[in-house]
Amino acid sequence: MRTAVYPGSFDPVTNGHMEIIRRAAALFDRVVVLVAVNAMKAGFFSKQERVELLELCVAQIPNVCVDFTEGLVAHYARDIAADVIVKGLRAMTDFEFEFQQALINRQLNPGAETVFLPASGTSMYLSSGMVKQVCALGGDISEFVPREALPLIVERIQPSK
Ligand code: ADP
Repeated sequence: MRTAVYPGSFDPVTNGHMEIIRRAAALFDRVVVLVAVNAMKAGFFSKQERVELLELCVAQIPNVCVDFTEGLVAHYARDIAADVIVKGLRAMTDFEFEFQQALINRQLNPGAETVFLPASGTSMYLSSGMVKQVCALGGDISEFVPREALPLIVERIQPSK
């Protein structure tokens, strides 16, 4: 039984995240999508909202569940005896940061190996920040976020619509 944790801000979930989730679900027996606190990112959606949106989107994938942590990803992975921490890699901009994180996570929890999955071409430049900006300025984000999450995301970012 191989368990993977896929951590991130998911503020909010995008099709880029969903692609990584689906690919991880095909590789591992169980995938826990983990909404984790990032001290560097203030965040727009609350922790509960991020979890709720993710749960709507993974409901049809049987071996995927959603959780959150206030603590370190490495400690969460240790506590559930996860074998792997999955990270998505977009352009080179992600590499330096993710590599550093992987080294620190190994130091904190040698029991979990970090596995990088490369973004596909179409997801390469997709980020939660970009989705929030486009939506806030009235743009159509239906190509960028899962259909299950779209109405809630739009309603929250453009409450007047
Ligand atoms: P962001 O806020 O930058 O969109 P998150 O912190 O939510 O990202 O990202 C969680 C994980 O998912 C990270 O490993 C990140 O590199 C990865 N990820 C985010 N967006 C994509 C994407 N479009 N394609 C592949 N991986 C992605």
